[in-house]
Amino acid sequence: MERKKFVVLGAGPSGLTLAHSLIDAGTPREEIVVLEKERISGGLCRSEDVDGAPLDIGGGHFLDMRRKEVLDFIFRFMPREEWELFDRVSKIRLRGIEVDHPLEANLWQFPVEVQADYLESIAQAGCVRGEPMPESFAAWIEWKLGERIAQEYMLPYNRKIWSMDPDALGTYWLYKLPDVSFRETLLSCLEGKPMGSLPAHGTFLYPKKFGYGEVWRRMGVALGDALVTGCALESVDLDSRIVNGRWQAETIVSSVPWTCWLDAAKLPQAVADDVRTLRNAPIDVDYVPDTLDSPSHWTYEPDESVPYHRALLRSNFAGNAKGYWTETNATRSKPTEGVRFHNEYAYPINTLGKPEAVARILDWAKSRSIVGMGRWGRWEHMNSDVAVAEALQVARELSGNGACA
Ligand SMILES: Cc1cc2nc3c(=O)[nH]c(=O)nc-3n(C[C@H](O)[C@H](O)[C@H](O)COP(=O)(O)OP(=O)(O)OC[C@H]3O[C@@H](n4cnc5c(N)ncnc54)[C@H](O)[C@@H]3O)c2cc1C
Repeated sequence: MERKKFVVLGAGPSGLTLAHSLIDAGTPREEIVVLEKERISGGLCRSEDVDGAPLDIGGGHFLDMRRKEVLDFIFRFMPREEWELFDRVSKIRLRGIEVDHPLEANLWQFPVEVQADYLESIAQAGCVRGEPMPESFAAWIEWKLGERIAQEYMLPYNRKIWSMDPDALGTYWLYKLPDVSFRETLLSCLEGKPMGSLPAHGTFLYPKKFGYGEVWRRMGVALGDALVTGCALESVDLDSRIVNGRWQAETIVSSVPWTCWLDAAKLPQAVADDVRTLRNAPIDVDYVPDTLDSPSHWTYEPDESVPYHRALLRSNFAGNAKGYWTETNATRSKPTEGVRFHNEYAYPINTLGKPEAVARILDWAKSRSIVGMGRWGRWEHMNSDVAVAEALQVARELSGNGACA
């Protein structure tokens, strides 16, 4: 039996950042072990070489630049000079043409008739007319953008990405979407330029010579023996905190999906019931060798007759790359002879009741010296920079250098 201060489950951005930060804060490396089921670290952010260039196997990944503390940490493993800075070009394909994202700021790029249709939709939207915010997701989308935009764009896109009835989703996560102003949308059409709030990733970094996975691979290598790859979570004895019959932890930090715990540990019935309510969307990432004629870094595809929901034009951001890849909810994927990467745990789904279920799971975990963090510990749709920021904070708390959240 090996005694460890910390047993960390999962070597994605969350687990990797946590392990390094605990070491930085004074925990000897020998007192930490990170267990990862795959053969390399990086989780959803891993990349592989396909057809002579990198492909991000968990989908398109770009580094947001807004958190200095996160960038300082990441640049230790891949210095700033190894990253290229891009101004985001993302498009939506609608009514047969590509316009810039977000739609409401770029209606002016459509022919005049289409602009009129969509302006009418926004003018009739509940939020523009001061109506109260509805509870259900589908009604919320119509309330936000009006019926026509909801029917042609947001509802089909959301049906594709989640592959479930939009009304099974809550609306608690939609506060991130900017308010739509009819006045600004009209002015934007009249003046022929974007207006209103623009989305995240306005500028982003992507490695010059590698895929996004390289920095996380290096982070894993830098952990040396403290990282054990090819080692899935198999068992946890909750009383002794012995993991896989080999490592006894003072504290277990879990960044793996809570659903993996169902077979590994004897969870109390109420906790197991909460875990069983959690839903995830799987995605397939498919490589296509053709190079598309578009300046876009990525393009959203709401048309339900097309299986994928997003195309990533790597020829426009990865060094010396041709071709593109697509992201498809795996339940919509068609069989392929081509290069495909399957990600069972890609998107945590924001179902009704999820925040309350996760809060109860985390409360119980805390009472057993288990910390849940990251995309799957919190079951939240967080980007990798947010996962790193959270892990830096958790490391401060576990090292006694930060207030507990
Ligand atoms: C399509 C898509 C696009 C995205 N785009 C961006 C983007 O542009 N920019 C951005 O910053 N972020 C993006 N993200 C989010 C990013 O992937 C996550 O924020 C990040 O991966 C979260 O890190 P994590 O360590 O919490 O989770 P994960 O990366 O999921 O890592 C969890 C780790 O746990 C391991 N694991 C799972 N089960 C077990 C088990 N039973 N035993 C042991 N190990 C296990 C996994 O193999 C994995 O290594 C995107 C995500 C997706 C799906």
